Amino acid sequence: MNGAWEVVIGLEIHAQLATSSKIFSGASTAYGAEPNTQACLVDLGYPGVLPVLNKDVVRMATMFGLAVNATVAPRSVFARKNYFYPDLPKGYQISQFELPIVEFGELFITDADGNEKRIGITRAHLEEDAGKSVHEGLDKSSGIDLNRAGTPLLEIVSEPDLRSAKEAVAYMRKIHTIVRYLGISDGNMQEGSFRCDANVSVRPRGQEELGTRAELKNLNSFRFVERAINIEVERQIEVIEDGGEVVQETRLYDSVKDETRSMRSKEEANDYRYFPDPDLLPVEIDAAYIEAVRETLPELPAAKQQRFVADYGLREDDAAILTASRALADFFEDVVAATQGKAQGTANFVIGDLAGALNRDGLDIEQSPVSAAALAGLLDRIKDNTISGKIAKEVFEAMWVGEGTADDIIEAKGLKQITDSSAIEAIVDKVIAANPGQVAEYKAGKDKLIGFFVGQVMKETGGKANPGQVNQVLKQKLS
Ligand code: ADP
Ligand code: MG
Repeated sequence: MNGAWEVVIGLEIHAQLATSSKIFSGASTAYGAEPNTQACLVDLGYPGVLPVLNKDVVRMATMFGLAVNATVAPRSVFARKNYFYPDLPKGYQISQFELPIVEFGELFITDADGNEKRIGITRAHLEEDAGKSVHEGLDKSSGIDLNRAGTPLLEIVSEPDLRSAKEAVAYMRKIHTIVRYLGISDGNMQEGSFRCDANVSVRPRGQEELGTRAELKNLNSFRFVERAINIEVERQIEVIEDGGEVVQETRLYDSVKDETRSMRSKEEANDYRYFPDPDLLPVEIDAAYIEAVRETLPELPAAKQQRFVADYGLREDDAAILTASRALADFFEDVVAATQGKAQGTANFVIGDLAGALNRDGLDIEQSPVSAAALAGLLDRIKDNTISGKIAKEVFEAMWVGEGTADDIIEAKGLKQITDSSAIEAIVDKVIAANPGQVAEYKAGKDKLIGFFVGQVMKETGGKANPGQVNQVLKQKLS
């Protein structure tokens, strides 16, 4: 990137809250229903109907506020944000403006130099989602699907503290992890339950004042966030270096053409004519309520990560990977509790072989065909020297496709490690006898050849000889 320019980014993340009904009505929020089957009169914006606030969204926003060390407002107010759009029959969106439910939060990311960096969270407010325009499969017309209208969202707004696309992604991942730990959003990005608008500007390095920003709308994958920001930064630098000016506007990232395009000039808050919604009472929360919610908070990712390092002696980065999802962390702890093996060995297997297999088959940890108890059974056979770590991978693959427990498979395939020293000695003797040339070279000082001999013995035994013993016997016989 161009060293003369500093990049400034602030994110507005929309997390769909995991309630079963909508924020102001009893209609279902289930994803994927036939168009317009899940919108009731309130969602459709009929005159004369009244919205009623869903208690659950207040609890969820409070949980989020506490998790990011924010202030949960004793009083917050719903406001009408007025604009016309075909998917918004009411002509306004109910949101929070001057008095949001959550303010002044923070979280910490690791920056490019490996240092902890604080990112301020300006606010998080509750609002309703709009419907959707549908173009696919329609000839020269558009349809409107209002199922999504009234779905509860938590909009989480960051300070302009992010300094690169990588930092923006790291921050967004942290928020994603937190909402999923809290169980307040499923975070499903394909279904649009977790998406962000990225506000991007550049300024000459050293300049205090912020540059003019463009807002990149509705980015729904971590990869797109990184990509869109990087292209937008390049574009802005080019505009300025060519003597032009960046205009404040809303832009769209086109992942097929890999470019950002102007959608519309950016509206100002006063274009929306916000005013308090006369149909809804202010939300008032007392300290006792907040404390009661605090009691329900699970252990959060940062704390869990520290505990994994402290209690299990894991490497920092392994602890970070394992705690990135609560389900994965739970799985790991279940294996550790059930195995005699060391926690770091368990971590290596979970992060390497298990995560690799899940990834290959497109499964979540909850769908793993090998349970935590079954994996512990396998790791115990490494621990007690029944099999080597290498053979364990083979056994694991067989477990994955349902061939049985580790013990069944070891038995059926005859994979038990050879630890009988006379058996190993006999094979070593055979290998030495068969390779007089290499023996001579080794004895003349070519130490590296030990690997060749180990390989030959392993080949003879189908990988089943205990590697430690093989090394020992070889060195003794070749000296
Ligand atoms: P809105 O987009 O609704 O007008 P704000 O003005 O509060 O809302 O800003 C939204 C986001 O844009 C925030 O995340 C904020 O940090 C970020 N932001 C504001 N100014 C800039 C800027 N000059 N460059 C980059 N990000 C900015
Ligand atoms: Mg915005």
